[in-house]
Amino acid sequence: AEAGRPPHVAMLSTPGMGHLIPLAELAKRLAARHGATATLITFASTASATQRGFLASLPPPISSLSLPPVDLSDLPPDASIETLMSEECARSVPALTEVLSALRDTTRLVAYFADLFGADSFDAAAAAAVPRRYLFFPGNLQGLTLILHLPELDVSMPGEFRDLAEPVRLPGCVPIPGADILSPLQDKSSPSYRWMVHHGARYREADAILVNSFDALEPDAARVLGLPEPGRPPVYNIGPIIRTDAAGHAPRAACLDWLDRQPAKSVVFVSFGSGGSLPTEQMQELALGLELSGQRFLWVVRSPSDEGAVNANYYDAESKKDPLAYLPAGFVERSKDAGLLVPSWAPQTEVLAHEATGCFLVHCGWNSVLESLAHGVPMVAWPLFAEQRQNAVMLSEGVGAAVRVPETKRKEEIAAAVREVMAGQGKGAEVRAKVATLRKAAIEGLLEGGAATAALDEVANMWTGGRQVSGMHD
Ligand code: UDP
Repeated sequence: AEAGRPPHVAMLSTPGMGHLIPLAELAKRLAARHGATATLITFASTASATQRGFLASLPPPISSLSLPPVDLSDLPPDASIETLMSEECARSVPALTEVLSALRDTTRLVAYFADLFGADSFDAAAAAAVPRRYLFFPGNLQGLTLILHLPELDVSMPGEFRDLAEPVRLPGCVPIPGADILSPLQDKSSPSYRWMVHHGARYREADAILVNSFDALEPDAARVLGLPEPGRPPVYNIGPIIRTDAAGHAPRAACLDWLDRQPAKSVVFVSFGSGGSLPTEQMQELALGLELSGQRFLWVVRSPSDEGAVNANYYDAESKKDPLAYLPAGFVERSKDAGLLVPSWAPQTEVLAHEATGCFLVHCGWNSVLESLAHGVPMVAWPLFAEQRQNAVMLSEGVGAAVRVPETKRKEEIAAAVREVMAGQGKGAEVRAKVATLRKAAIEGLLEGGAATAALDEVANMWTGGRQVSGMHD
C-alpha cells in the first residue's frame, strides 16, 4: 500500500561541492530521522572527480543520477557561474520533468527540493505533479533576505550597489556596504544580475524555504523571517548542516598526521573553498604574512586565479599546474617546519575538528563558516567573490566571530589579523569567546528538542504524518 512505502524526496544540486554537500547531508537527516529515501540529481556538468567520488560514497537510502547534457555553447565564454548554473537549470527542465515523472511512478515521491540557482526547476516539479516544492538555501538568512528583496530593490534603487553612499539596510541584518553586496549583483546590465532578480521572485513559489543557518547566529533576521508574511513562504532555519561522514573509510590524509604532531590550538588553517584562488600577488603576500605572524599553518594552495578561470576551478576542484611554483622564492624551504602546504584539496571538516587547529583563515563560503563554527574555530575573514564579502561583513561586524583582513592585503595586515585571532587579548579574545558560544548553540539546536531539529520535523511531518523512525543517531 502507498502508506507502506518510504517517503521519497528528489533534490537537484547545482554544481559545486558547496551545493552538493549540504543537500546530501539534508537527505541523510531525512533518511535517519524520517525514514525517507532520496534521489540526488545533478547536472551533466557536475563531473569533477571530487564530485563524482562524493556522490558514489553516499549511503544506500540516497541514490544519485545525472541529467543529460544541455547545449550551453551559445553563452559567452566569460559567462558567470551564476549565469551558467541558472541557464543549465532552465534548459534542463524537460529532462528533469521526465526524471521526476519516472520517480513518481516508481516511488512515493512526496517532495522536491531545488537549491539557490534552481528555482526554475519548480516548473519540472509542477509538470510532474510532485506534491510539494521546497527551496533549500545553502547560505544564511542575510543572503536569503537580500535575494527575496531583489525584485523590489530592482525597481526602487537607482544606480549600482557599489556606488551607494549608505550601506544597504535589510530587515534584521547588519548594514552591508554596497561594494560588499553579492558579486553577481554588482553590474545591473549583466545577465547574472537579472538571473538573481528572477530567482528572488521565483523563491516565493516554494511551499517553504529551508535555510542552512541557525537562530543564535542571526537572531534578528530569524525573528523577522519567523513571522508569517503574505506572499512569502515560511522560512525554516535547519542548520548547521555540515559534512558528517568525514571520509572515515578513505586512508587518513597525511595532513592529519602532521596536525597530530602540532601543539593544541597552534595551527592556522588556510583555505578558500572548493573554487577559490588568489591573484599571484595576494598569494605571495599571504605567504609572507603567514611567515611574519610566527604561527604554524596548514595551507590548501591552489594555482593563482590569474592563471586560469575561476569557473573551471568551481566545476573541477583540482588545480591544473603545480601551485607551489607561484610562492615567493625560498618560502617553501623556509616554512617547512612551521607550515604544511597541501595542493588543491584537504579534508576540511577533519582539519577543523582537530585539536591542533587554532583558527581558520577562510574565504567565508557559507559551508566553511558553518564547519568552523560547529567546531568552535574562530576565523580570519578573507572573502573573494559570490556572497563571501557580505558574509565577511556579517561575521566581523555583526556576529563578532571573525576579524577581517583589510582590502589592501599587505603582509603586515595579514599577520596582525592572524595573530589577533590566535592570541589577541582584545578583539581576538572576544571573537574566540563568541565562537565558543555559537558552537554550543549550533550543537544544541541539532539535538532532540533543539531548534533545528524541530524546524526540520515541522517540514517533514507534512508528509510523514509525524511518524519518526527514531532519535537523531545515525
Ligand atoms: N572543502 C574541503 N576541502 C577543501 C576545500 C573545500 O573539504 O580543500 C569543502 C569544505 O569543507 C566545504 C566545501 O568544500 O564543505 C566548500 O563550501 P563553501 O560553501 O565553504 O565554499 P565554496 O566552495 O562554495 O566557495
